[in-house]
Amino acid sequence: MKVLVLNSGSSSIKFKLLQMPLEKVICYGMVERIGDEDALMCYKKDTINIQKTISIKKHSDGLNLIARYLVHPEKGAIKNPQEIYAVGHRVVHGGDSFAETTLITDAVKKQIKNYSVLALLHNPPNLEGIEISEKLFPKAKQVAIFDTAFHQTMPIKARKYAIPNKFYTEDDIQVYGFHGTSHKYVSEKAIEYLGMDTSKIISIHLGNGCSITALVNGQSVDHSLGFAPSNGLIMGSRSGDIDHAIIFHMVHSLGYSLEEVKEVLNKESGMLGLTGFNDLRDIQSKAEKGNKDCQLALDMNAYRIKKYIGAYTAAMNGLDALIFTAGIGENSCLIRRLACLDMDYLGIELDLVKNEKKSSLLREINTDCSKVKILVIPTNEELEIAKQVYKLLS
Ligand code: ADP
Repeated sequence: MKVLVLNSGSSSIKFKLLQMPLEKVICYGMVERIGDEDALMCYKKDTINIQKTISIKKHSDGLNLIARYLVHPEKGAIKNPQEIYAVGHRVVHGGDSFAETTLITDAVKKQIKNYSVLALLHNPPNLEGIEISEKLFPKAKQVAIFDTAFHQTMPIKARKYAIPNKFYTEDDIQVYGFHGTSHKYVSEKAIEYLGMDTSKIISIHLGNGCSITALVNGQSVDHSLGFAPSNGLIMGSRSGDIDHAIIFHMVHSLGYSLEEVKEVLNKESGMLGLTGFNDLRDIQSKAEKGNKDCQLALDMNAYRIKKYIGAYTAAMNGLDALIFTAGIGENSCLIRRLACLDMDYLGIELDLVKNEKKSSLLREINTDCSKVKILVIPTNEELEIAKQVYKLLS
């Protein structure tokens, strides 16, 4: 079964074609900066590696270009679009309607559209990707994999905000949780690796967006992103936890409009707001050269992670393993070291040498006597999506 995985974001479309259940990647790539004259197209298959700058005005142009590459006579991966049995679409917000991977129907699309009010940046381009894909691959089954679905197991005490009940019962304001595909993938890998029948795990996804999930026996019981993907850890350009009084102060006393505050908190805050840089590699190298803002931002970042580890260990009454994943979690030994520093009280002891070793495989970086295992597990959201599509359709 050939499964095409599509992640259609606000200005980019990532794709990967996999042969399932072999989990073999046939080709992959992305278009970035959709809307720009100099959008970037990248396509990889075996030894073919194409990168080119091209004008891509809208999502349909981007997906058409991807489809053309897929069936290209020399560089392509398939002879015609009918070879694709299913397309798996990442959909960020499925509200509380979708606890499972779902075959897309008109009713499902309507629901995804309805949830756009809760994820303005994400659901509209996700839906657009679905609608274009239906036209480009009319014979393929279209499947939605929701980021929020994995967190439907969270108990109500973790889901509900302490605001009047009406907002929960009538207006659906609650913790939905995100990055579900990634947390599911790495936690299953961890459970398989640990070989435990019962487990208490904290999964820490640190990319441009960052989140942390508490899992009991593989099920999400608490999570740091909430109603929208803005709460919790310090992210690339998002503040994470903030006192809501600051928003009112910005509007009423400092004269910002609500739109401006939203822009500040989502696009100008986090590591970018603290340092002027978004990419953690830049921040680490500036800190090494003595930049004090960068050093403080790294300390703040790790301190926030630490606090969540403490909170979730208490919530679960124990901890068997910590998982670090995604761009920063997999690659930044500095953030891992700072986050695990002085955590021996909780039984978390990092092996500094193992932590420094580079590898793209699952690895254990705790000391031999650490009560808690510390694992670095490369995430693979596309594979997880393809696995779920295969499971649903087979
Ligand atoms: P997303 O999928 O959310 O866009 P990624 O998971 O690709 O993000 O992570 C992006 C982040 O990972 C960036 O902040 C980048 O600086 C960081 N990153 C990638 N490689 C390294 C590295 N070798 N060392 C430190 N940080 C890294």
